[in-house]
Amino acid sequence: MSPLESKTSPLAAPVTSLWGVGAERSAQLARLDIHTIEDLLLHRPRRYEDRRHFRKIAELTKDEPATARGTIVASGLKRFRGGGKSVFEIILDDGGARLHCRWWNLPFMEKYFAMGDEVFVYGKLSETKPRVMTHPETEVIEGGEEGFIHINRIAPVYPLTEGLPQRWLRGLIWRTLERFVAASRESAAHFPEWRASDEKLAALSRDAATLPSRANAIHMTHFPEELADVEIARRRLALDEFIELQVQIRTRRKNFESHATALPCGGNNRLIKPFLARLGFKLTDAQSKVQREIRADMGGRPLPGGFGTAGAHPMRRLLQGDVGSGKTAVAACTALMALESGFNVALMAPTEILAGQHFQNFSKWFEPLGVKVELQTGSKKTSNSDKSRVNIKHSTPINREQASNIQRHRQTQPSTLNPQPSTLFIGTHALLTSGFDLLKLGLVIIDEQHKFGVAQREQLVRKGRYPHLLVMTATPIPRTLGLTLYGDLDISVIDELPAGRGRIKTFIRASDKLPKVWEFIREKLAAGRQAYVVYPRVEESGAKGLKAVTKEFENLKTLLAPFRVGLLHGRLKGRDKEAVMSAFRGNTVNVLLATSLVEVGVDVPNATIMLVENAEAFGLAQLHQLRGRIGRGAHESYCILISDSKTTGTNERLKALEETNDGFRIAEVDLKLRGPGELLGQQQSGLPRFRFGNLADDLDLIRQARESAAKMA
Ligand code: ADP
Ligand code: MG
Repeated sequence: MSPLESKTSPLAAPVTSLWGVGAERSAQLARLDIHTIEDLLLHRPRRYEDRRHFRKIAELTKDEPATARGTIVASGLKRFRGGGKSVFEIILDDGGARLHCRWWNLPFMEKYFAMGDEVFVYGKLSETKPRVMTHPETEVIEGGEEGFIHINRIAPVYPLTEGLPQRWLRGLIWRTLERFVAASRESAAHFPEWRASDEKLAALSRDAATLPSRANAIHMTHFPEELADVEIARRRLALDEFIELQVQIRTRRKNFESHATALPCGGNNRLIKPFLARLGFKLTDAQSKVQREIRADMGGRPLPGGFGTAGAHPMRRLLQGDVGSGKTAVAACTALMALESGFNVALMAPTEILAGQHFQNFSKWFEPLGVKVELQTGSKKTSNSDKSRVNIKHSTPINREQASNIQRHRQTQPSTLNPQPSTLFIGTHALLTSGFDLLKLGLVIIDEQHKFGVAQREQLVRKGRYPHLLVMTATPIPRTLGLTLYGDLDISVIDELPAGRGRIKTFIRASDKLPKVWEFIREKLAAGRQAYVVYPRVEESGAKGLKAVTKEFENLKTLLAPFRVGLLHGRLKGRDKEAVMSAFRGNTVNVLLATSLVEVGVDVPNATIMLVENAEAFGLAQLHQLRGRIGRGAHESYCILISDSKTTGTNERLKALEETNDGFRIAEVDLKLRGPGELLGQQQSGLPRFRFGNLADDLDLIRQARESAAKMA
């Protein structure tokens, strides 16, 4: 739909243009994110009530919610002395039995009911003698010509907001459907944008052709003839949502490709060869396969006596690999390709600790090769007296020599003729905000992408020179999410762990077993191993009974003596964090108490114990990440999850960790149980909101949408 069309379409008209929608109602609708007529038509019912059949009050149960109807034969509000507590009650009679409906501390409910009203009531009994429902959903049945909208049919029950009656909203949607949708259902000719989307679908996909038209699907969503219609309609509307998104993704990608040509970063193996020779292990087959995919993007085949020919477009690649699969080594090889080609490389990590760790590793690996490695985080910069550096803050004046350097880089492509050594810059997102503007930037690597968010990725991509981009994520992403969130990236997967890893055993224990757990940990410490202990909070807030790392630190210092305990959390200063991390790496600190800050990337192979207290407070993917901190050396490792939760959902979640080490399976479970927002973390801003699409279940639709979008765009 072009913007022009959407402006003139009646669907884009504000809800206030509808009869009966004034300032108060439109403000309420706005709270439900309903602004236009189309928004209203796409307001999805929360559930449906089959009002063709009612349960007799006498047959209501405590186990299963059901709909009954009855006449109000008594009502009253009782206020208790002191404290302002009250209970309002109505008694319904359906000729066979009576039902007490009670609302606590909602005295205004009184004004919604009158003696003699006929009322629908939905819920389950809280008591049976007498029959009581507490806070049921109700709707007063009114006669008149509108009566047929609400009864003797499957009635939609919508999400509401304070002051907005169910009945009113249902009536409004009914009338709006009559006015705008009825005609489209007959002739499919009412709205060009709907007709267009129907025609495209019918032409593009055999399966889609069997789906209802958009107008029909919208009608079926609100007033289905059978409950099975609801799912059919949902699938159609979900498909439209997915197609719209996939078309956007493709357009963005095509736009990018038409503007950007790849810098020649294929390298000539000059640095990679000695790097691999000294690495101390052989790349796994999976790492090598991914390496080849990346090389093809960056400009694979080396030319005789020169650098590779670049692929047509800059690399935009997502590298997925379970924790410990060795993404860092792949990142290193990728960086070396660009460095060999005479370009600079930026590597961004989500935390300072991780940036610091990368700095240590990469310095160790690259400096013998003559490559400069620099660290730039919010709190730390490696000293730099080398004037050949091309990192310029816009705010700082540059000297003449620097200026002439820049000039030179503008004019010449990096090549062997340019003897200037290339640099690897490592940092946090501070790299992005520091006015980072490397003229020779050939490659950007983002580690642990899910902590960055799509907005920040875009910001990077818009750096102007279109460097190659490799994003790495340790949260394995279920296919559905991958295709929606990273649809504009090519995907590589490292689907194999390096051999010779110690196994990880996972246990779930209640907190009364902690003394035994500490005993076990002391044994392992005595054998020279190290442990992480993770808590959900930095400081005690009291509210939820969650343990806090600062408080436990005081206890454990004594409990675990003579072993040394270190403390790590986000409120420490950068240099304190670094001090404790390096002490832990050197095993002068034996036990590291931390918050989920250690969740990503930290690599200390001698640590073989991961104890997580209040495990129920963490997401599955997060726990899997935490567990990924151990099992990195040859020793057997132990992940112990402490939880006293009695909730079945929580136990089911934690059990998944006991049962499998496969990050992809865990991510699927997490997605199903907690939804995409939780799986990806709060900072994930790029996820579109779907009204009908369901990322946990709709893989087939997303695939279909991708195919359709490919044929369209
Ligand atoms: P992640 O994929 O979680 O970022 P890392 O890159 O931190 O994993 O690698 C985890 C550990 O495995 C590191 O200690 C690394 O040196 C080691 N490693 C990586 N690749 C291999 C390999 N092919 N063989 C043996 N060990 C490897
Ligand atoms: Mg990593």
